[in-house]
Amino acid sequence: MTRRLVGVSNRTAAGGPKAGGLAVALWDALVQRKGLWFGWSGEVNEQLRRGVELFEEEGVEFAVTDLTDKEHDGYYLGYANRSLWPVLHYRVDLANFDEEEYSCYRDVNRRFAKLLFPRLRDDDLVWIHDYHFFPMAQDLRDLGWTGKTGFFLHVPFPPPEIFKSVPNHRALTMGMCASDVIGFQTVSDRDNFAKYCVSELKAEQASPELLQLNGREIRIRAYPIGIDAKEFERIAEEEEARNATEMINPFLGDSRALILGVDRMDYSKGIPNRFQAVGRLLDNEPELHGKIAYTQIAPPSREKVEEYQELREQLDTLAGRINGDYGDLDWIPIRYLARSYGREQLAGLYRLARVALVTPLHDGMNLVAKEFVAAQNPEDPGVLVLSQFAGAAEQLKDGALLVNPHDIANMADTIGEALSMPLSERKRRFEKLSASVFGQDIAWWRETFLADLDPTIDAAETIAAH
Ligand code: ADP
Repeated sequence: MTRRLVGVSNRTAAGGPKAGGLAVALWDALVQRKGLWFGWSGEVNEQLRRGVELFEEEGVEFAVTDLTDKEHDGYYLGYANRSLWPVLHYRVDLANFDEEEYSCYRDVNRRFAKLLFPRLRDDDLVWIHDYHFFPMAQDLRDLGWTGKTGFFLHVPFPPPEIFKSVPNHRALTMGMCASDVIGFQTVSDRDNFAKYCVSELKAEQASPELLQLNGREIRIRAYPIGIDAKEFERIAEEEEARNATEMINPFLGDSRALILGVDRMDYSKGIPNRFQAVGRLLDNEPELHGKIAYTQIAPPSREKVEEYQELREQLDTLAGRINGDYGDLDWIPIRYLARSYGREQLAGLYRLARVALVTPLHDGMNLVAKEFVAAQNPEDPGVLVLSQFAGAAEQLKDGALLVNPHDIANMADTIGEALSMPLSERKRRFEKLSASVFGQDIAWWRETFLADLDPTIDAAETIAAH
């Protein structure tokens, strides 16, 4: 008898499209196991109108709760997005630590745990996701929960010297350590966490993947999240994908190479550095004028947070300046579109692109890099220019051209190299990239994690049956 899976995440996929890594992964697992998904409803109210709303979609049970205005400001926009997000992305300079916001974050974790606990059965597998819920495993234990509990961190875990700048860092990491399995995107994140636990919590590290703390064993391991690569490959060949490429064709003309960037507008994505690198390339190589078409798709996110408004202004200015300096009557070097597109349209653009620029300053994984690979035509694949600081670099380093996003001159040269790469080398690199993206896909990620949480699961068998 398979044990029920209980997924916990800030956002659930209730009622919406099952797109994005986490939503796809959890959704499939919960459908298979007839599981329960617990999280925020997405609604904000002046006062809490109700505890939990229960409903079912395609056999998956949902239990969601609203946030009050105060909780939304303090826990979500405040502590999660203005304290934890910047620190976890190595930007202590942008972090804003506020004791009241922290206390609100703690209260929300406790309140959520209290709502979830009565719904748990002894043999459930609880799988908590991301930095919104660092303390939740401990909060559940405090209520008497003794069952199997896993935690997965979707974003980076920085070196201890950086994480220690969070005023309440010990409470957060002790909370995580109430789990049985803690997953990270990369080996480097896992090692940072282990180092932190040994030095700050006085944990023993029995092996690279095993911590001992207060008489308990905690398995720590890298499980790089993947995408549904076959599905992405399929949609890249569909009509809707082709329509997007037809729309962009007039911009490409007969001979322009498409350089593509697709990111949520976030300071961790390094978009300004990328704009500068393209400007530098045009400065270095006038023969490329009129020959490249850089399209950057970047829908604004977290617009209520000041740093995000500043980024928006910075991008507007930079794109305007580069277009002003290098553009011509019949050519605009940078097309910068501050909006989002459907998955089909993105897939079509990925397939058409000669070069993808995925150059975050820090990123947990970066799924865009993997989507780009999955969408390629194997007979004429594009080139992935990838930041060494994206989690994806650990898996994709042999096939991608790695760059340091702070090194604008090198990035400009590397984009030039990507543009002139011969077909034989593009194919050779693509084989390496696709072996990783298709081999370690979303089902692999999910089942590897769950098999560590519940040893009765045979990961290989479940992936094959998928
Ligand atoms: P993050 O989770 O930090 O936003 P990822 O690269 O891991 O970064 O995941 C981003 C997801 O959002 C991908 O699935 C990508 O296709 C999607 N996405 C990013 N930018 C856009 C956009 N402009 N329009 C539509 N989807 C987007």
